[in-house]
Amino acid sequence: MIQNKVPITVAYGDGIGPEIMQATLDIIQAAGANIEIDTIEIGEKVYNRGHSSGIEPHAWDSLRRTKVFLKAPITTPQGGGFKSLNVTVRKVIGLYANIRPCSSLHPFVETKHPKMDIIIVRENEEDLYAGIEHQQTDEVTQCLKIITKPGTEKIIRYAFEYARQYGRKKVTCFTKDNIMKITDGLFHKMFEAIGQEYPDLEKEHWIVDIGAAKLADTPEAFDVIVMPNLYGDILSDVAAQITGSVGLAGSANIGDGFAMFEAIHGSAPRRAGQNLANPSGLVLGAVQMLIHINQADVAQKVHNAWLRTLEDGIHTYDIFKEGNSKQKVGTKEFAQAIIQRLGQQPQTLKAVDYSKAVGKTIHVKASPTVPAKKELVGVDIFLHEKDRDPNKLGNALKDIKAGKMHLSMITNRGVKVYPGGMPETFCTDHWRCRFKNEELKPSTSHDVMSLYQQITDAGFEIIKTENLYTFDGEVAFSAGQGQ
Ligand code: NAD
Repeated sequence: MIQNKVPITVAYGDGIGPEIMQATLDIIQAAGANIEIDTIEIGEKVYNRGHSSGIEPHAWDSLRRTKVFLKAPITTPQGGGFKSLNVTVRKVIGLYANIRPCSSLHPFVETKHPKMDIIIVRENEEDLYAGIEHQQTDEVTQCLKIITKPGTEKIIRYAFEYARQYGRKKVTCFTKDNIMKITDGLFHKMFEAIGQEYPDLEKEHWIVDIGAAKLADTPEAFDVIVMPNLYGDILSDVAAQITGSVGLAGSANIGDGFAMFEAIHGSAPRRAGQNLANPSGLVLGAVQMLIHINQADVAQKVHNAWLRTLEDGIHTYDIFKEGNSKQKVGTKEFAQAIIQRLGQQPQTLKAVDYSKAVGKTIHVKASPTVPAKKELVGVDIFLHEKDRDPNKLGNALKDIKAGKMHLSMITNRGVKVYPGGMPETFCTDHWRCRFKNEELKPSTSHDVMSLYQQITDAGFEIIKTENLYTFDGEVAFSAGQGQ
């Protein structure tokens, strides 16, 4: 039975994008991919036409129709006013899971890590990539790190389900919860809790700094690694690079209704238009796409021909090594070499078998939220104050009270400077003044407004406030450093 062509949206992107996309499409079409291509324009030209997210409104119609996006890298213009297209697309269509496999191809591609075979599962919508940034004083800027329960639960469940489905043995979680106890703490706790449901899988947690060092030094010790957005972004580039080149890794961005496939690297503008770039990352992204659209036989054919090409020593400049490689080729020639090998298997490297991957799309759901008993117990009021004397500020605010709240401390860059601060602490013009009741007795938003009024009347400039809550009696805000 001849199946209908599967519609996919394709964007050629910027820099090396058009070259690696052409190479990828040539390969998958030669392998028999049954697809109908709808091309949209994204990236630099679209930004320059005045669309601040790099995508035109009608392009969403194509994505809504096909629900599958094969995307080449784009160049994000520097400077304010431009939003990252990648982040926008991932978030608008809910692509919460970013899957980035990084495996070494020893001995054919030179690497210090011949046994490396890891899958990075990166949370794709939250964390510092929420893109909520402000400058509030002459000296201080901030970026909000958003970690949610449903977002975390989904990515952790996805990582465990992925590990089970693909016969992996261990799931590792990286966070920095020794410092960010509430945000990264939520991610770690969720990992521990959901991990209980997967007794068949080994589980471990690393603080991200030492975990990253271990990953760069002994990647073979890891299998599946799940992490918040920023760590996953950085460490998947590291992981890909230590397999031999950042140009080798592909990536799937998966959501409930949509999926996007790409290389992990950027548009490498310095390599553009010279037939130099390695198309492997996008080819492997397309392999993941073919599995997703139930053309696993084609995916397997492409992947095995790609492995065979690398085995035959036909390498682009980034992985070419005298003595190891046989022929240095450009993007087009590399694609032709893969096309010539379609139907062949690798002889030394392990051939892939995607026959069991058919129809196994992973679906996860976050549990419904059970609202806790939430009580307002204080407020952090942030001031822009040029006078750098914390005691003077403390003395000016110490008699201000509302309801049960009074001044409990002042911090500067998170460090307690009043009462009893250290004279050595450097202070900026951005002060957090915490008003609360020491026994955490509840207050009201009218009390907060009264504080706001009194502080403004005292001549201070409030730049923001942050309410302090308990949830079911548990304190849900961080203490001051040195408190
Ligand atoms: P990059 O990944 O584009 O390139 C860094 C270097 O890695 C290149 O100079 C090149 O030496 C090497 N490299 C990357 N891909 C390669 C390939 N396929 N073959 C051979 N060598 C390759 O990173 P960058 O220079 O920091 O970013 C360039 C632009 O790409 C920026 O505008 C950035 O915002 C954007 N970017 C886009 C995406 C995306 O669209 N998904 C991802 C990351 C960066």
